[in-house]
Amino acid sequence: MGVRAASTPVSWPAVSTTGFAPTVADVVAALDRRYPPAWAEEWDRVGLVLGEPTNPVRRIACVVDVVPETVDEALAAGADLIVAHHPLLLRGVSSVAATTYKGRIVHRLIKSDVALYVAHTNADVADPGVSDALAARFGLTGLRPLHRPRPGSPADAPGRGIGRIGELPAPMTLAELARHAAAVLPVTAWGVRAAGDPRRMVRTLAVSGGSGDSFLAEATAAGVDAFLTADLRHHPAGEHLAAGGPALLDAAHWATERPWLDDLAAQLRDELGVETVVSDLDTDPWTVHAAAPRPDDKEPRP
Ligand SMILES: [Zn+2]
Repeated sequence: MGVRAASTPVSWPAVSTTGFAPTVADVVAALDRRYPPAWAEEWDRVGLVLGEPTNPVRRIACVVDVVPETVDEALAAGADLIVAHHPLLLRGVSSVAATTYKGRIVHRLIKSDVALYVAHTNADVADPGVSDALAARFGLTGLRPLHRPRPGSPADAPGRGIGRIGELPAPMTLAELARHAAAVLPVTAWGVRAAGDPRRMVRTLAVSGGSGDSFLAEATAAGVDAFLTADLRHHPAGEHLAAGGPALLDAAHWATERPWLDDLAAQLRDELGVETVVSDLDTDPWTVHAAAPRPDDKEPRP
């Protein structure tokens, strides 16, 4: 994984801890209220991953990915608990031996007495959720969910769902929107690429943090002008556009979910009086972006 540090890797809030520190169990209870584990998709694995419930928590590190580099940051910052978006252990494991990549992380956290909690699709579907923070970067108004929970499922309630649809403050072309997106999203090597007519006007925008491939049909059904998400692929994107679907913007996965960490940290500070550290370490795997020279960019070489 090609992790590179942003210019300001750690942000420190001007909040001090007063009174008694909450325990890991207190923090888990607060997070479970806001992001109930029952709201997660069936395949997902969320909640407390490791940590002593009775340990005090004075400082919490908020990260998208639990990787050695973000664990380094959290330990250096003196965090007692890491709240992550992506599950460290999504699939069944039969070993957390320290000789394995993930086992090494588990060992480091336990030895350092640092707890780990995951809020993933249960945070995506929440209101406010992961994509509200993404929508806020674009100033979208009149927000509504893109992908509604299955009727009767635990997460099913008005306002909840994965992704958000809203109106831009002012219409702009797809090319302008792509440049705008690259400017308002956290900086990555990947940047933003767009698919569709660059001159197409965009007023209504759908956004979905993380891999939004599976919501292409819903974006079309919603009648939006463009859909911004991550991890889009050649065939689904091409066939979607050929069928007259909205224009597409493909941002870096990490960049679409990093905005939520600020909301998460603010909630933890306000509700629990803890200090928070938000990781700005770009954990997207892509480290180089090279645009092919356009004909009008080419200059004669001496
Ligand atoms: Zn994700």
